[in-house]
Amino acid sequence: MFDVKLVVQVRLLPTPEQVAALKATLRACNDAANFASVTAFTAGDRREYALRKHTYREVKARGLGAQAAQQVIKKVADAYTTLKANARAGNLGPQGCARRIRAESKPIAFRADAAQPFDDRCLSWDHTAHTVSIWTTTGRLKKVAFTGSLDQLKMLALYRKGESDLVCRDGMWFLYATCEIPDVPVTEPDGFIGVDLGIANIATTSDGTRHCGKGLNAVRHRNRELRSWSFHQLGSFIAYKAARHGVAVIHVDSAYTSQACSACGHVDKRNRPDQNTFSCTSCGFAEHADVNAARNIASRGVAGWAVSHAADDAA
Ligand SMILES: [Zn+2]
Repeated sequence: MFDVKLVVQVRLLPTPEQVAALKATLRACNDAANFASVTAFTAGDRREYALRKHTYREVKARGLGAQAAQQVIKKVADAYTTLKANARAGNLGPQGCARRIRAESKPIAFRADAAQPFDDRCLSWDHTAHTVSIWTTTGRLKKVAFTGSLDQLKMLALYRKGESDLVCRDGMWFLYATCEIPDVPVTEPDGFIGVDLGIANIATTSDGTRHCGKGLNAVRHRNRELRSWSFHQLGSFIAYKAARHGVAVIHVDSAYTSQACSACGHVDKRNRPDQNTFSCTSCGFAEHADVNAARNIASRGVAGWAVSHAADDAA
């Protein structure tokens, strides 16, 4: 099991005066970032420690406090680290290609309204009043209202941790806050739902529900890689949702789940005369083929849980 990290986005509702202060702050931070970026580029040493040594005093003197100055320098160092990682991974094209040369032959430039991270010393949250207090170059802004969905607000109040990015997009202001959701202990299951992943029906559950996911199929059929990607993605979503609610997930061997009868266990190719039909040649049990497979998967889940817990008990 694992802690889940995710980013929750809330919209700020600043007054016109607050907007002016936020704008001026992003501009000052990004001017300073561009200065630090040029220094990083010419000095050649782009690590945060070296960059701080060479630029901290000047960045701070540009009207940024100690905290904001450190955040700006870290942002610049992180941007060079990301560029290097992208180049190494081939995301900018092969060595010597025009795009890669363009990206690597000049300092990284920050737009005047590029996002800026704020730590807890520069940004504090009031989850009852739905306001933040935020450092700006023209002083601390208090009671800047924010809004979000009930889910987002609840998540923030419970799990927000670390830095948040101040983002300006299409004239609107947002905070992207990182939330760390702790692992929830898995509760003893009183049964399993089998999920059969397939082509015609994306997911069929053992309670008889078939999810065909119309939009998803259109995407999946565009190419093979996307198709396996979407199964992988669906598996990750299930694991993530389950982890958040303390639900056990067991992966089972799918061999013969489509040919075995979920009522009597009889395995026969002829149990499945066509894609959709399951009809047991031994006991006569009949069901949609995918639902029958999902029921087999559910019983393998029960068996798998018992095995893994016998191992836990022995340990
Ligand atoms: Zn049967």
